[in-house]
Amino acid sequence: MKRYLSLGLLLLVGSGFAASAVEVTTLSGSKVEIFSRGDLVDLLALLQVAGVKVGFSAASGSYVASSENHEVHFTPGGSLAVVDGELVSLPGPVRQLENHVVATVETAAAILRPLGFRLLGNARALSLVAAGQVPVVEASVQVAGETATLVLFGLQEKPRVVPETDGFRVLFSQSVQLASSPAGGGVFSGVQVQERELRFFLVAPWQLAGSEFQENPLRLSLRMVRQGAAPPKAQARTQPLVVLDPGHGGEDEGAKGQGGLVEKNLTLTLSRLVAAQLQKAGVAVRLTREGDEGVALVDRVALANRLQADCFVSIHANASPARAARGAETYFMSAEATDAEAAQAAARENAAAGDVQLILWELAHVANLEASSRLALELQTRLNQLSGIRDRGVKQAPFAVLTGTTMPAVLVEVGFLSNPEEEVRLSSPAEQERLAATLAQGILAFLRSRPTVTPTP
Ligand SMILES: [Zn+2]
Repeated sequence: MKRYLSLGLLLLVGSGFAASAVEVTTLSGSKVEIFSRGDLVDLLALLQVAGVKVGFSAASGSYVASSENHEVHFTPGGSLAVVDGELVSLPGPVRQLENHVVATVETAAAILRPLGFRLLGNARALSLVAAGQVPVVEASVQVAGETATLVLFGLQEKPRVVPETDGFRVLFSQSVQLASSPAGGGVFSGVQVQERELRFFLVAPWQLAGSEFQENPLRLSLRMVRQGAAPPKAQARTQPLVVLDPGHGGEDEGAKGQGGLVEKNLTLTLSRLVAAQLQKAGVAVRLTREGDEGVALVDRVALANRLQADCFVSIHANASPARAARGAETYFMSAEATDAEAAQAAARENAAAGDVQLILWELAHVANLEASSRLALELQTRLNQLSGIRDRGVKQAPFAVLTGTTMPAVLVEVGFLSNPEEEVRLSSPAEQERLAATLAQGILAFLRSRPTVTPTP
């Protein structure tokens, strides 16, 4: 009886989705079909195709995939994996769908990678290759006065170079990996590795001046020049500029309370209120989204970098399986999470980053670490005063939205939507006003504490 019931449900649920199989080109070049639904693919079938051993622990509810030298533990419902004993954030959660264990291609690729496999393609056509078959690009940077040269080695083809306002993209016809991020040397603020693309972000006023492809060995040289002495926008600006980032938007709704409060709506409301408060105090404000639209994390960061904002504040609301969890938390960027809870929050918020693998350059990061922690403290101290809760504090975690920023940047989780009491509180317009005023005061205190810019009080 139960079986028929679930089949009926399944037909209803399934009707909105595309075909339920995807073709995978195996290591030997043969093709097999595995289960897929929408952008989710059958993770266990992929591991089987790769020849990876998979075990299941009923006690912990988790799977163990093991190759000769490596082991990955993952749990349906979770966005964290344990790779060779270390906790890592996956791009998205592993899920249970009917009797399949599924994940997005990006998440499946992240599980296969430490086991020695690359997963290429998308949910319509996939191919599995052994790690050694994907070209590994090596990058080196040399800076000499007003010019800098980036050389990419280990190429198997001539890539295409596309200039961008904040850097440039190097496009390949097949997937590539980057061996390691080169020392930034004050020229680069970061690099992203996407499937067939390396995207380099330049620190203003560095600009791409030209590129040259050379043989023996195949390599690409990119020349950068420093334009003028100081960033013109920063000089011309008479008032400080803050970029506020309302978390989520569009299809990405974020966390949801039992009473129906949706994170993407709350973050936009709060951001608008904070903006109004800051503008009253003579601070210029830009929002990363003005309405209910999806904006990639990369573009949120790029906007702040392009405007050379004085600080970047990403506003979110929390969710926790522990329903009693309450209070605000403020995070600033770190490659390491301060605790498991911080790692989970980062994993959840990072899900929207998709297959973008952000690599931080130590230089950009360290330059703003102290200022970011100061901004976080100004905010968290006031949030604790507002709520009367003292046990939540400033934390460090690898949030994708904070990586790649070239200014002090923090992420605020204003409260827990998973806590029914707190959801009611966060739904109240009066409380939203108080919360926004508190955030604005913290940002103003931070701006005033800096040596160069003094906003009118
Ligand atoms: Zn969020």
